[in-house]
Amino acid sequence: MLLAALQPLPWQQTIWRSLVHVERTQRLSHAFIFTGPAGIGKYHLASVYARYLLCERVPAELLETACGACQNCRLMQANTHPDYHLLEPQDQSKVIKIDQIRQLTSDLSKTAMLSGRRVVVIQPAEAMNEAAANALLKSLEEPGAATVFLLVTHQLSLLPVTIRSRCQCVRLAAPTEAIGFAWLQRQWSECQISLTPEQQLAVWGLAGSVPLIALQWTQQDVLPLLEATRGFAQDLIALQQKKCMPLPCVVRWQKSDFSFTLITAWLMRWMQDWLKLLEGLDVSCLSCPHLASLWRPWLAKVTMHQIIIFLDDVSKIRQQQQKQQALNETLLLENLLIGWSSSTH
Ligand SMILES: [Zn+2]
Repeated sequence: MLLAALQPLPWQQTIWRSLVHVERTQRLSHAFIFTGPAGIGKYHLASVYARYLLCERVPAELLETACGACQNCRLMQANTHPDYHLLEPQDQSKVIKIDQIRQLTSDLSKTAMLSGRRVVVIQPAEAMNEAAANALLKSLEEPGAATVFLLVTHQLSLLPVTIRSRCQCVRLAAPTEAIGFAWLQRQWSECQISLTPEQQLAVWGLAGSVPLIALQWTQQDVLPLLEATRGFAQDLIALQQKKCMPLPCVVRWQKSDFSFTLITAWLMRWMQDWLKLLEGLDVSCLSCPHLASLWRPWLAKVTMHQIIIFLDDVSKIRQQQQKQQALNETLLLENLLIGWSSSTH
């Protein structure tokens, strides 16, 4: 990610000032949970704060961010700071395992290498399995001298209450559309990512107005993303018109590079766009305006009733996804598309 490593994002300024304030006034908590929607820069803020907490700057200088020049800052820059611990799922695993927490506990039982603070970032914190979370509890209860934990999660409810109750919760909000999109356009310009205005709006809409997700997608060629989503949209129309069968669509969708969670998020946004178009709203009100020309002629023959039933089916799947239940995605997608293709007026 090509973000300034020492600076919080523009929409994090208020929270940043309060984080700096608690450190300056020696009221620093030993554990924070940074929470809020996915893709708004929670991990970025935790990393920036970790650098700030480890920086050796003279307090009298009252710097607002890490200096970027001292020994600690240089070690952080080189990813070799001995008192900074980043725990995240390793290799292909989606889980933070107990062995990782045991290693951390062992490291924390020793004296800090640089005789200053130690900072632990756990991201995403909900990736800790039950055993790992239980093992972490002890460290949270007896954190040791000058150790600060920064847990990052967009699914706070999945963290055990015992962990949550030992941390100070920092809730981060998504930027407004205007601030988020303006920031994204600056990043595109600085990274020399060249997109047409239509592509910019398409990516912004598909990313659900979430700036870091949109930026990540555009760091590689966006054409496959745009083509794939247009393909999903065309399949939805063809299914409803009974011009294609559901099962080949299921196979095609599952072969795409996009997760089922992302696909259901797109379906929700598109259905909301359909409803807006049926109500006669302007294209500028849509999440994904680039698909309007595809939807418009087709929507003339679709009823609100059909859309609401489909919306209901997708929302039920979204609820299950948010609970992180183990889902049979193939079966769910098959049922969903069979239901949609057999819906009648
Ligand atoms: Zn520094």
